[in-house]
Amino acid sequence: MIQDVRRLFLTFVLVVSVMYVTGGFSVGGHYFSDFFKVEGAFFQVYFKEMEILLLGSIFLGLSFGRVFCGWLCPLAAVFNFLSPMSRRQTKLDRRWKYATLVGVALLLYYHPSIQLSLPAGVSPRYIAAALLLAIVLSSLIYGRVFCTSLCPVGGWFSALGKLAVFRLRVGEECTTCERCNRVCEMRLDVAHGKSLHECSLCWACVEECPYKAIKLRFILS
Ligand code: SF4
Ligand code: SF4
Repeated sequence: MIQDVRRLFLTFVLVVSVMYVTGGFSVGGHYFSDFFKVEGAFFQVYFKEMEILLLGSIFLGLSFGRVFCGWLCPLAAVFNFLSPMSRRQTKLDRRWKYATLVGVALLLYYHPSIQLSLPAGVSPRYIAAALLLAIVLSSLIYGRVFCTSLCPVGGWFSALGKLAVFRLRVGEECTTCERCNRVCEMRLDVAHGKSLHECSLCWACVEECPYKAIKLRFILS
């Protein structure tokens, strides 16, 4: 049930995000993105909202770790749909996403007006479309590799997740049957409680466990 609701919601997030970035459709002469009082390209929108996004993401990450990746990321619907089609689940080191996070942070710090330095005729939307295509192809071939190992946003929330106050815990009821591991979209060793700061709180393992051994706990409880 929760997974159905999540899939539906993620599809909604994806559709809204695509319309937001592309302008989508127009109603009464106003494009979809006009309703948010933004103009121009994706990167410009992103930079304008940077401070709010940063503070909001810190609050979210310190509360629930990678919950953004499981419930709010526009790409999560793409991953959920395409990853199961991949037979090859790569074991690319998960720590690469911290390197991409540092790379993106340095790029934003030293070139905050990156959209101005693009060659004439190259819209940031083309770059966003090319990146999206690469992510879609990688999902088809290698499963959820971008999310687990390369995404800088995933790196950001994984780092914050190490300090998150609400986390999944596996209780004493666990028999290590590992059914939870088989449904984990982040490919975590849930049964042995490993790397749970990478958990997207998708809730699949909680629903799957026949012994109700997995619970969301406040860190001080
Ligand atoms: S499904 Fe439940 S009992 Fe089985 S390993 Fe996971 S937490 Fe333990
Ligand atoms: S640990 Fe459980 S809730 Fe977290 S991502 Fe894996 S299946 Fe989803």
